[in-house]
Amino acid sequence: MAVVSPLAKYKLVFLGDQSVGKTSIITRFMDTAGQERFRSLIPSYIRDSSVAVIVYDVANRQSFINTSKWIEEVRTERGSDVIIVLVGNKTDLVDKRQVSIEEGDAKSREDGVIFIETSAKAGFNIKPLFRKIAAALPGME
Ligand code: GDP
Ligand code: MG
Repeated sequence: MAVVSPLAKYKLVFLGDQSVGKTSIITRFMDTAGQERFRSLIPSYIRDSSVAVIVYDVANRQSFINTSKWIEEVRTERGSDVIIVLVGNKTDLVDKRQVSIEEGDAKSREDGVIFIETSAKAGFNIKPLFRKIAAALPGME
């Protein structure tokens, strides 16, 4: 699934499995959530976006494994001409965690993408996420 959201002049596409928290992260940050898009439309949204935010749920290992497919799809559409941010969301689910921060960090290094953990529920690291995105975009600091 994908949620598309504009950040000033740059378009962001939020990708990741269903229910990992894409809409919640956007709502936390800017109060309107953008629209959920059909699977078949995702390539065109990836093509139109400068930033791909790929979200997994730290309490759902399959959603972490599936980020490889999302990253591959973004690279296929955009090559290196895109900023990719890997986000491990739902860190508040401490007792249910299935993916460590070290694993997320290691994957981000292997794939050459930016990494951060968040909790949309607790409001943890939401502003830092968008600050990291802004810092990576020309003219957005
Ligand atoms: P999306 O399908 O990726 O857009 O996911 P949603 O934003 O709709 O969230 C799916 C479910 O996960 C909802 O019930 C949210 O309340 C919940 N959720 C989202 N973010 C968090 C989080 O950081 N922590 C917890 N515990 N639940 C979350
Ligand atoms: Mg959603």
